[in-house]
Amino acid sequence: MNPCPCGYLGDSSGRCQCNPQQISRYRSRISGPLLDRIDLHIEVPNLPRSELRQDDNRETSMQVSQRVVSTRNRQLQRSGKPNSRLTNREIEQFCQLTEADERLLDRAMEQLGLSARAWYRILKVARTIADLSASETIQTVHLTEAITYRRLERKGSLL
Ligand SMILES: [Zn+2]
Repeated sequence: MNPCPCGYLGDSSGRCQCNPQQISRYRSRISGPLLDRIDLHIEVPNLPRSELRQDDNRETSMQVSQRVVSTRNRQLQRSGKPNSRLTNREIEQFCQLTEADERLLDRAMEQLGLSARAWYRILKVARTIADLSASETIQTVHLTEAITYRRLERKGSLL
């Protein structure tokens, strides 16, 4: 979806003239229960053309693909299925947090007004982020990244 009715909110051109009411009316067209089921909310700003051409130190598609395959294999070895298919009971088994991180997630849930379903979905995403960096445990940095992908649920926030 676009970030606002005109599509230019947050663009460096400064072309967006939408006011906060227009933006929140526009965003409320996606219902909460639907948003609840979308695990990754990511802003994708327009890239300047010079950026598009640059490819010096970037990971190649082949490298990314290999990382995804090994992440998936790690998940299959752990639980016999990809993280996305874990049941709530399996999530409790395989996606454990430290006590401090549980409190962190509790606070985030409260601030973002998230549902119990979102709690489990965040844990699965955090487990996958940990898998992508070949980490045995979910660390704070993995959990906080998973939480940031829920940014559209932050009430009243515009980017
Ligand atoms: Zn706009």
